[in-house]
Amino acid sequence: MARVYNFSAGPAALPEEVLQQASDEMLDWQGSGMSVMEMSHRGKAFVSIAEQAEADLRELLAVPDNYKVLFLQGGATGQFAAIPLNLANGKDSADYVVNGSWGKKAAKEANKYLSDVRIAAQPDSFTEAPGNWNLNPGAAYVHYTPNETIEGVEFHNIPEVGDVPLVADMSSTLLSRPIDVSKFGMIYAGAQKNIGPAGLVIVIVRDDLIGNAASDCPTVLDWAQQAEAGSMLNTPACYSWYICGLVFQWLKRQGGLAGMAEVNKRKAEKLYAAIDGSGGFYTNPVAVDSRSWMNVPFVLKDASLDDAFLSEAKAAGLETLKGHRSVGGMRASIYNAMPEAGVEALIAFMADFATRNQ
Ligand code: PMP
Repeated sequence: MARVYNFSAGPAALPEEVLQQASDEMLDWQGSGMSVMEMSHRGKAFVSIAEQAEADLRELLAVPDNYKVLFLQGGATGQFAAIPLNLANGKDSADYVVNGSWGKKAAKEANKYLSDVRIAAQPDSFTEAPGNWNLNPGAAYVHYTPNETIEGVEFHNIPEVGDVPLVADMSSTLLSRPIDVSKFGMIYAGAQKNIGPAGLVIVIVRDDLIGNAASDCPTVLDWAQQAEAGSMLNTPACYSWYICGLVFQWLKRQGGLAGMAEVNKRKAEKLYAAIDGSGGFYTNPVAVDSRSWMNVPFVLKDASLDDAFLSEAKAAGLETLKGHRSVGGMRASIYNAMPEAGVEALIAFMADFATRNQ
């Protein structure tokens, strides 16, 4: 068996230890005689798995007691609709900061449910995290995307928005470092990048913001009803939930989120230094203080070399480096599960490729 370094943006690499544990427990989870995939979600065994996962996630993120943690389905995209449906509460206006493709989609979806979706900030090109938000103090909420997965643009500080609830799509950054959850009204993240397998979206929402869903909000998107039912209003994504739980335990063994932040910062700095130090052979277009620790897009000086770069990288065990179809070039996603050795292998390959193709 040969495992590659997988730089996919999502679904993405998972820690090898987690995969090994899942493999060991596949046929017989802890003497139950069955796989987690085969268990009733109402049974004692699965309920204990689910509760432990929630407890570990709360511990990792130091989630305050007045927040619910939900394990839902429908992806981050489902939450694009759930947010206006749960938070409008009689208002028709919300502010959206658009600093990349996903924020744009979130605003477009909200437009279906609100008559006044205001764009509070949107740079001409998606190469910086915009400051100077033009906020409406009467908005139901302010939505932004702390890390834009496609463009590799990241906010490195939590913006100040006064009393209006701050809503954050953390799909590609949650668990990459500690965050102060109390600064947010609601946080959500599709699991398939930095958290676990596809099929789950994690929602963290302050208690006072639930219970006011629109009357036509689909029941599965109603946070209050899901919270009441322990995220089991209908059959949850049991196996994904279990794997996320194993990832949380792995994160605790790595020194928690402070430990991850140190490694993630170092990995990103090394890779950006290699790009910036390549004499223009590789370039990253993002403003230095808005560069993502998680998704590192770069282009080659000559796009006609792209195919050779990708096929030689693949032969060297470095996979899924092609950039998103909307921006082209390359993208290395270096989430928690990408070992530092993987980033070093990529840097060595990039230097060698540049030397041979100057
Ligand atoms: N938001 C961000 C920042 C993302 O990166 C993605 C997935 N690439 C999404 C939303 C959409 O997530 P999902 O596929 O889980 O709906």
